[in-house]
Order: sequence, then structure tokens, then C-alpha cells
Amino acid sequence: VTRLPASIEKVVGALGKLPSIGPKTAQRLTFHLLKQPPDDARSLAAAIGALHEGVRLCETCHYFAENERCDVCNDPRRDLSEVCVVEDALNVLGLERTGAYHGLYHVLGGALSPLKDRGPDDLQIESLMRRLRDGAFREVILATNPTVEGEATAVYLARLIGPLGIRTSRLAQGLPAGGDLEYTDALTLQRAFEGRRNYDLEP
Ligand SMILES: [Zn+2]
Repeated sequence: VTRLPASIEKVVGALGKLPSIGPKTAQRLTFHLLKQPPDDARSLAAAIGALHEGVRLCETCHYFAENERCDVCNDPRRDLSEVCVVEDALNVLGLERTGAYHGLYHVLGGALSPLKDRGPDDLQIESLMRRLRDGAFREVILATNPTVEGEATAVYLARLIGPLGIRTSRLAQGLPAGGDLEYTDALTLQRAFEGRRNYDLEP
């Protein structure tokens, strides 16, 4: 078996650790970079190298930010009476793409999961409750994923929020059950958003 030079193997190995990139794709990407001008590879490496320094999480909603607060929280045109609760920062991106929502967000950082030993203290739930108590919110849209864990998280949050007297809603059916908002197309997401229903549980 012919071995590749170590500098190629190193890049193939690093790319192969990324999600949804298998060894073959990693090789193809590496060979592609080799064929391009060296500056392309250098600027890619520089951008990746600077990634962590340039990004932090918004102190208010925990979405990606470059300063203390993210672009959404800083935008004076956003509707301060609505907050949409999502599991991951990527979900914010998907919902923004629909153009159907103009309120604020709150990124939990995952969903409740006994299997993964992830409880309420591991998610950004305390900061959500603080925001709800201090703010002037009229509606909390529970946009956790339509999975068992996402549903359990929505129920948990609806129970917590109920006593505050703020309306809770959940995205409409029609999202693929067991799916992930991250992989839902913009139109389906927009429809689910517009058809959201009340989620006020019995105490
Ligand atoms: Zn924010």
C-alpha cells in the first residue's frame, strides 16, 4: 500500500474528525486544497485558527456573539414581547432564515435527557426564568426539537413558566417527528411557526 506524505495524512485525519465527513470525503477535500493556490489553504487555516477568539456566547440569550450581546439582542427593531426557546444556536439561524419571526431568542444548549445525564442545571433554564421574570414578555415559543427529549423539555418549561402568567406556545405539527429543526427546510419551519398553538398545561 502506497502511503501518503505525512502532511497530507495529517489534514485528512483532522478533516475526518468533523461530523458527516468520512475518510473518503476527507481525502477528496485535502486533494482539492492541494490543487488550489497555497493562499487558499492558508486563509482557510487562518480563519479556523481565529475562530474561538472571535466568537463568544451572548450574555443574554446565549446565541453566538462577537461582543457581550448578540446582533439579535442588540437590534432595536426586534419585538421584545416574544422569546423563542431553542436547543441550539443553529436553530436560531434556521428560524431567522424563515423571516417569520421578529422576537428574541433563548438558546438552552441542549434538551433534557436522563440517558445523557443532562438535567435542568445543565441547560440555560435559570437564565431563561430570570429573563422572563425581569422582562415584559407576552409569549414564550417553545421551539425545542420534535424529539422525545425536545418534547419533555417543552413540557418541563411550560410547567415552570405557567405560574408567571406568560402565554406558552409550541410549533405546529407537521414537523417531522423525531427530526431536528436544524434539518427542517425554511418553508416547513415557517408554516410550523405560523401555525403554533397554545401550550398552556394544566397545573
Ligand atoms: Zn443575544
